[in-house]
Amino acid sequence: MIQLTRRATFSASHYYWNEAWSAAENEHVFGKCANKNGHGHNYTIEVTVKGEPDAVTGFVVDLKALKDVIEEHVLSVYDHRHLNLEVPEFAKVVPTTENIAIAIWNRIEAGLLAHPTMKTAQLAAVRVFETSDIFAEYRGGKL
Ligand SMILES: [Zn+2]
Repeated sequence: MIQLTRRATFSASHYYWNEAWSAAENEHVFGKCANKNGHGHNYTIEVTVKGEPDAVTGFVVDLKALKDVIEEHVLSVYDHRHLNLEVPEFAKVVPTTENIAIAIWNRIEAGLLAHPTMKTAQLAAVRVFETSDIFAEYRGGKL
């Protein structure tokens, strides 16, 4: 079993807000991130797949196909968007680095299943870097 990781970047804005709380509670918990005008990040994501290298090609997955899945299912939806306002999964879920990692996992997994040559690719991890110092990693499974 070997793992292979592809990196990609996108820029997006967001804010942190829980509709169930008062404005004061949101500001207390989320600080300046609660400003509803939003703020931006240049996100880096790392998508890791695992498997055994194909006996003929030596590839775990077709990297071009993985790139296409990431572009179609994540970047085309997230890049240069306001995550809270324009991406459906964050209409009610706070777009923290953790929740973005889970959402990207779900999108990539669906994208792999939908791709004709990627059905057997196994997703191993999704990492989301909000800055170079902070990342969240999701490996699937129960939360
Ligand atoms: Zn932020």
